[in-house]
Amino acid sequence: MNTVAARLAPFGTTIFTEMTRLAQRHSAVNLAQGFPDFDGPDFVKEAAIDAIRAGRSQYARMFGDPGLNSALAARWESLTAQRVDPDTQVTVTSGCTEAIAATMLGVINPGDRVVMFEPFYDSYRASAAMAGAEIRFVTLCPPVDLCAGHVTTAPFWFDMGELERAMTGARAILVNTPHNPTGHVFSRDELERIAFLCAKHNVLAITDEVYEDLTYGHEHVRLATLPGMSERTITLSSLGKTFSLTGWKIGWAITTPDLSRAVRAAHQFLTFATATPLQVGAIAAIERGSDYVAALRARFTQGREFLATTLASLGFGVVMPRGTYFIMADHTEVSRRMGVAGDVEFCRELPARFGVAAIPPSVFYDNPQHGRPLVRFAFCKKQETLEEAATRLRSIIAASR
Ligand code: GLN
Repeated sequence: MNTVAARLAPFGTTIFTEMTRLAQRHSAVNLAQGFPDFDGPDFVKEAAIDAIRAGRSQYARMFGDPGLNSALAARWESLTAQRVDPDTQVTVTSGCTEAIAATMLGVINPGDRVVMFEPFYDSYRASAAMAGAEIRFVTLCPPVDLCAGHVTTAPFWFDMGELERAMTGARAILVNTPHNPTGHVFSRDELERIAFLCAKHNVLAITDEVYEDLTYGHEHVRLATLPGMSERTITLSSLGKTFSLTGWKIGWAITTPDLSRAVRAAHQFLTFATATPLQVGAIAAIERGSDYVAALRARFTQGREFLATTLASLGFGVVMPRGTYFIMADHTEVSRRMGVAGDVEFCRELPARFGVAAIPPSVFYDNPQHGRPLVRFAFCKKQETLEEAATRLRSIIAASR
């Protein structure tokens, strides 16, 4: 019997669940699902524990604990020099994934066109589909100098003509920067072009900026700060990546009062409110977290370098990520040595044969062919974990001699 409703049946089980299960079955080093294998900061955990002890156990306010909304508004002002009203312009959600779903359901009518870049984070397509959107994809292409055994620092790129065709007649564009899975950080030029087209074609912008604090020498530009964009942008982000607390599921949406009403119209019926004590912990993170974030960025800078160099030495073609904690690499040469073909087969074989798990990016493309030569590795892991993965991956070379 087909128990899954037609609107969700095409999406199956997420690749993260599938690959983590495979990693566990083979006791593989999990460089697939993006989560740190170390804990978030103690002072944030203490603040949440104190809140539980103090009996903060009932529903939070629907659109966020007043203290967290204020902390987020103050943070936004310090980052953008734009003042937002904490009560009408900030909405706390259960992670950014809920914020994306609430935004889609809150602003998109059935049949509206939504533009997104491929590869895309898997929930975008599913939540746009739940809202009944018609989806148009614009392809982010790997740098032209990507080749086996090398690390390229050139960026992913897209065709501006393709973008304008997609945006003509669209209701909204979803922009994820820094971008998962490519590690691309949209440049100011690219975002100015997107902003120009939003104004020209009267398109709303929805941005997913959950990796905003994880950039490596590249400026993170917030689309909402470009001229005319604060009126038409819904900026989404979360606590999880910045504070290594992915399981806390604290996210938020910052936008105009009108657009906030639309997001809340859905949010109130999806989760109603987000876990009270964790919101209290989040206040501590937002207000006192800058040292933690600086140390985390330093750690990931090292991890990025180590994993990129290791992968290139094994024969992968590596795109040096400008942000996030993921590396996209071309596996063609390595697959050939292993006697497998395509990203899905490569990622199914890797845990069993070499004890390392990765993500096959074809699931993030509308046209899976585009993802076939590629593989995504996460480097948000302890140095010893990355070294263990490197040792195991080196046996690929030994095995193919
Ligand atoms: N965002 C994380 C990743 O891309 C995982 C999210 C999830 O497991 N759903 O790996």
